[in-house]
Parts: sequence; C-alpha cells; structure tokens
Amino acid sequence: MKEKGLLIVLSGPSGVGKGTVRKELFSHPNTTYEYSISMTTRKPREGELDGFDYFFKTREEFEQLIAQDKLLEWAEFVGNYYGTPVDYVRDTINDGRDVFLEIEVQGARQIREKFPEGLFIFLAPPSLSELQSRLVHRGTESDSVIANRLETARKELEMMNLYDYVVENDHVERACERIHAIVLAEHLRRDRVEARYKKMLEVE
Ligand code: 5GP
Repeated sequence: MKEKGLLIVLSGPSGVGKGTVRKELFSHPNTTYEYSISMTTRKPREGELDGFDYFFKTREEFEQLIAQDKLLEWAEFVGNYYGTPVDYVRDTINDGRDVFLEIEVQGARQIREKFPEGLFIFLAPPSLSELQSRLVHRGTESDSVIANRLETARKELEMMNLYDYVVENDHVERACERIHAIVLAEHLRRDRVEARYKKMLEVE
C-alpha cells in the first residue's frame, strides 16, 4: 500500500497574506504539493477563473454539497460560503501526494477535529497594525467590510494555539521557505520514517 500524502493546512487571520503566500508557493515548479481548489459562493473577482481560482457555486448548489457531505470543512465568511471538496483531498492523499489547503480559521478548526494528523500552519502578521494598514490599502473592500474583517482577525489571532507551527509573514519568500522547511521536516518525522522501514521488513 502506498504511503499517504500529508494534509497541509495553511490558515491565519484575514488580510495576513495567505493567498499571496499560496500563489508564491505554487508559482515555483519545485513545489510538489497539490493545491485543493475550494468551492465558494462569492462572485469571481476580475481575472478569476472557475475551476482554477475557485469552483464558483450558487448558495443552493453549495447547500446541496453540505447536505451530501461532499465537503471536508466549510465556513461562512463575510457573507459567503467557502468549503473544501472532500473527494479530491481524500483521493490525492491516498495516492501519496501532499495536499495543500489555504483556508480561514473556522475551517482549519473543523479539520483539526476531523483529521488531527494534518499539518497545521498558522500564518501570522508581523503586527496587528501592519494587518490594519494592509487591509486599508487593499482598496477593494468598503470600510464596513474592513472593520468586519479586522474584528474577525483579532479573534482569529487568539486561535493560534490550534496550530503546530507559526510562520510570520514578514516577507513572502521567507514565509514560503519556512513552509517548505516545515513540510520537509514533517516527512522526516520518526514515526513516518519508522513505519516505512517496518513495512520494508514485513516484505523481507
Ligand atoms: P477570498 O474571498 O479573499 O478569496 O477568501 C476569503 C477567505 O476565505 C480567505 O481567508 C481564504 O483563505 C478563505 N478560504 C478560501 N477557500 C476556503 C475554503 O475552502 N474553506 C474555508 N474555510 N476558507 C476558505
């Protein structure tokens, strides 16, 4: 039987730069993780493609997916649903490949409960004030949406204790290097390596 891949969960406060770090990770051909494309009811932003950035769904379609147990986790975030397709994650891990999720913290908490052997990485802002200036300068959201996101972020920071690792996003490339280092180390954990040797000996 094939050794299972890792379920890598990158999460953290709103505005911390999860999407930017994820895009940077996947812009390099040496990144071997498989990105799990999420489902969402949010409208596509300019340039976003269905089946590439997200699978864009109506609320009815999304609620049907919930009812059919097709989502590993899901959350409502600033008025829209977001969720991770369970079949893709399960099949990819069973095939021995690492899956990478970039999700908000409510979803990460659900996965921690359902799938504790996942690798949980918290992307932290260098400081809350920097988070605020990033949100204000983003310029794509209204003041009330920004205020809402900041309040959510304060609560999310308190959730850091659910994670195995914390990566400060002081610089995107450095954050990516730290994530690669964490994943590499996870593959070299004694229990994973030992299981591999044990299997080898069973064959002898
Ligand atoms: P955005 O609308 O800016 O693309 O994403 C908003 C938030 O939703 C981000 O924090 C992003 O990480 C999160 N998100 C994206 N996909 C998923 C998902 O499948 N599940 C959950 N729980 N959050 C997601």
